[in-house]
Order: sequence, then structure tokens, then C-alpha cells
Amino acid sequence: MQPFNTLRLILGDQLNASHSWYKTKDESVLYVMMELRSETDYATHHIQKVIGFFAAMRGFADALIKAGHQVTYLKINDANNRQTFTENLNVLIEQYQIESFEYQLPDEWRLDEELSRFCTNAVLETSAVDSEHFYTSRFELKQQFEDKKQIVMESFYRAMRKKHDVMMVAAKPITGKWNYDAQNRKKLPKNHEVIEPLLFKHDLSEIEQEIKAAGIKTIGNADSTAFSWPINRQESRQILQFFLKECLPQFGDFQDAMHREYWSMYHARLSFSMNLKMISPKEVVDAAVQHWLAHQDEIHISQIEGFVRQILGWREYMRGLYWWKMPAFKSMNFFENKEKLPDWYWTGNTKMECLKTAINHSLDYSYAHHIHRLMVTGNFALLAGVDPDQVDAWYLGIYIDAIEWVEITNTRGMSQFADGGITATKPYVSSAAYIQKMSHYCENCHYDYKKKTGENACPFNSLYWNFYDRNRALLGKNPRIGMMYNIWDKMDTEIKKEYLLQAEKYLSEVNYI
Ligand code: FAD
Ligand code: SF4
Repeated sequence: MQPFNTLRLILGDQLNASHSWYKTKDESVLYVMMELRSETDYATHHIQKVIGFFAAMRGFADALIKAGHQVTYLKINDANNRQTFTENLNVLIEQYQIESFEYQLPDEWRLDEELSRFCTNAVLETSAVDSEHFYTSRFELKQQFEDKKQIVMESFYRAMRKKHDVMMVAAKPITGKWNYDAQNRKKLPKNHEVIEPLLFKHDLSEIEQEIKAAGIKTIGNADSTAFSWPINRQESRQILQFFLKECLPQFGDFQDAMHREYWSMYHARLSFSMNLKMISPKEVVDAAVQHWLAHQDEIHISQIEGFVRQILGWREYMRGLYWWKMPAFKSMNFFENKEKLPDWYWTGNTKMECLKTAINHSLDYSYAHHIHRLMVTGNFALLAGVDPDQVDAWYLGIYIDAIEWVEITNTRGMSQFADGGITATKPYVSSAAYIQKMSHYCENCHYDYKKKTGENACPFNSLYWNFYDRNRALLGKNPRIGMMYNIWDKMDTEIKKEYLLQAEKYLSEVNYI
């Protein structure tokens, strides 16, 4: 057995081929990658997510070997795989007479803890290096806002634009305006056809068989003979180019629009690639800005600004919040919500057309775009008072891009307001009016979006007022919500009573609506 001096661990979401680790080939360094039950089982993941991770990891290991690096790879069913990082690392360290252990800083708190603990207990030299992926360091947001009264995404975003010189001229935004959010809210016109998304067709049925043979519990559907997500850097670049050419010109306009036939609309579907670090946020942002500069006559600033804000702004902001507020963030429950997640979140079997569509997209593609996640599934869970632990478990499992640092901040923070307003300044809740405005779902729904009470009244309407009414003590003083309480207070007492009774009825039979 060849001895190695150094063992370097590569996690499944650290597939960054540009990392400085790989700039030199060193015979004394052994890289290790592992498929583990501790990772497949900490949530019930979508089958496409597990297949996608394993396929991308295996491809990355092969590419490293081809490039002349020494790699040991533990597959899920390998007899010598002990299924946890610690146990596998201990075996390898002894087997190869390793003298030093190195890892890239994980993005997840639980893995950071586990690896720090491993290093504390280890009797060899250990060190951690940056993953060289993000624009910001772990604690940059904290340092920027620690002594401020409020954390505001918009201020962070502007500071990021300046610091990284993105769409800036002489320290000012290139077109004189920072934010075009107000222009990003169009409904898809009738008969508007959205281009088919670029889908890959990998035959990954062997991996699916291995996952089944291992007995890993998964959710959702997959055609593993034609797996459609990008699983390497080259494909991630391909999907980026497709997005720039075919989607960016309309991205901002229809960013919030929803449609049953078009599951990804004009969205980039780059989150899986970026979260696994197959492509960097800087590469994506730089390519998008360059593309816009070269096509300014065809692409309005509002499209590119909306896209850059998501990546340079929201994505980095969520990471900063995560490292600032964990581990306390994980158990925050501002409203003390305790209800169970309705059964149909796992099947799509509900009469509510909007929820049926958003959930079926999630089950079929391991994806739903932002507005489905925020204003349909998230909105309903919050209105229904679902325990944020259960909401998190669902989001963490079902989406191919779900990794805790970006899942929990979006779910528990932005969508469920369980952090009491750290992430968002007010809860993202709406009645049927918003869904009707941004989609065509209400036209084909069992429920009537115009009705607040009575037979077939849309559940969102009464639940919306019930939410404000029951949370008055916690929300009444929020200046961004005052108007809603003014409207509620001016309503006729009998009507208010009817709304609340209707909401109670729906909540008592929530598994059947
Ligand atoms: P696009 O709409 O095309 O946006 C481009 C990129 O911007 C995305 O790839 C993503 O990297 C980034 N981005 C956009 N919005 C956000 C955001 N709010 N936070 C962080 N990055 C953002 N994103 C995840 O990557 N993983 C998750 O587990 C996740 N869970 C979410 C849960 C809820 C309840 C909500 C409301 C949002 C969640 N998001 C999550 C954010 C966002 O919905 C996804 O990043 C996006 O839908 C991914 O699809 P896309 O690549 O087509 O995105
Ligand atoms: Fe959703 Fe209500 Fe519209 Fe039905 S009527 S699609 S439940 S918002």
C-alpha cells in the first residue's frame, strides 16, 4: 500500500475544479470522496437529488484522476464504507499512514461541527481552507451589520455591487438606478409560449439501482434513464449559456409568474450547479453581465439587474445570515406554530390547483421556481400554522438544490418568518388575489378565488385573515403591516366572525381540501 503524507476530504457539494488544491499535482496527497448514509439519511431526499449528487461526485472524482491526482472514492454500497466521515477517515489515516488531514470549510453548520470535532480529537496535523466559491467570507455580513439596528438585503446588495464592481460606473450603478424589482412582476400573457428548458439525458439507472439496493428512503419521481440535470462543469456552463441566450431577455419580467405547463419558466436552473460548486457565482454573474453588455438593445437592464440581485445579493446574503445566526436559527419558531404539514405536500393530492401544481412540479422535477416555493407552498404552510421543523424537513428533502445554508434561511427565515423578522421585514403571506394575479391557476380550480366564505371559497382568503387575527400580538406593531390591521378592524364584526369560522373549518379538515 502506497503511503501518502496528506489526506484531503472533498465533500459532495465541493466540486470546484478551479480550487487551488488542484493547481499542482502532488504524489503525496490523497483525495477522498465518500457517499454516506449519514448524508443520504439526515433528510428524506428526492430521488433525483441523491442520483444527481452521486453522479456529479463520481464524475468529479474521475476528472481528478484523469488530471493526474490520487483519489480514493467510497461508493454507497462498498463493503469497506463505514458510512460516516469520522469512521472512514480514521480507517484511511491508518491505512495510508497519513500525517496531515485537510478539508475545505463546509457550508453546513452540522458538517462544520463534525469536522471540527474530528480535528480536535485527531492525533495528526489538521487544517481547513476556504472553498473558494463565494463572493463573501462566512462572517462578512455579520461584520457589516453587527452594530446596525436592522439587516437590510438592499444595503448589502449595493455594497456588494460596489465592492465587486458589478454593473457600476464611477461608483454609481451603470444606469443610475440600483433596483428594478418593481418591473419584475408580470403575469404570463395568454398564448405566450415559453421556450422548452434545456434538459440533459443521462442514463443514470445504475446509480438509481445502487440507491435502491442500499435501501435509502427517497421521495419524488425520476426517469433515471434520462436524468435531466447538469452533472459536471461543462454542462453547468451549457445551461448557463442556454439561460443567457434563451431566458435572460425575459427573466426579470416573468420572474414571479407561474404556469402549470412551464415548470421552470425563464428561470436559470443553475442552483444545483452552483450549490455543488460545479460553477461559481462569479462566473455566472460575469458571464451574464458581459452578455447583457453585448446585447443591450435586446435585453433591458431590469432583466439582468433582477438576475444579478438574486446571486450577488440574495444568495450571498442568505449564506451570511446562516453563519451569523446558526445554530440558534434552526430552532426559531416566532409564531410557536405546531400544526402538522398536510399529507398532500407529499403527494400533490389536493383540490387547490395552485398547490397541486407547485407540489407536482416539485415531485416530478425536484424543482419549483422561487414564487411557487415562497407564495404557494410556503404561503400556505405559514397561513396554516405548520411547525417550521416540518416545513424545513420538506424543503430540505424535496429540492435538488436544497442544502441547509440556503434552504433554512429561505424557508424558516424568508418564507415562514419563524426568525421573527431577521430575514424579511414582514411575513410573505397572501390571499388568493396574489396567486390569481400571477398565474392562471384560479381559472381551473375547484375553489373560487373571489369567495371568502361558503361553499368552494378559496382557502387562502379566510386563512389569510385568520393568520393576521391570531398573530396580532406579534405583528400588530410592525409598521409594514399596519394597513392590513386597519382594513381588518374596519370590517363588519359578523363578516369577520364568518371569515374566522371558515378558516377554522378548513384547518380542521386540512388534509382533505
Ligand atoms: P433563478 O430564479 O433563475 O435565480 C438565479 C439564482 O439566484 C439561483 O440559482 C440561486 O442561486 C439564486 N437565488 C435566487 N433567489 C435566491 C434566494 N432567495 N436565496 C438564495 N439564492 C437565490 N435555493 C437554493 O439554492 N436551495 C434551497 O434549498 C432553496 N430553498 C428555498 C426555499 C424557499 C421556501 C424559498 C422561498 C426559496 C428557496 N431557495 C432555495 C431560493 C430560490 O427559490 C432558488 O434558489 C431558485 O428557485 C433556484 O432556481 P433557479 O436556479 O432557476 O433560480
Ligand atoms: Fe389557489 Fe385559491 Fe386560486 Fe384555487 S382559487 S388556485 S386554491 S388561489
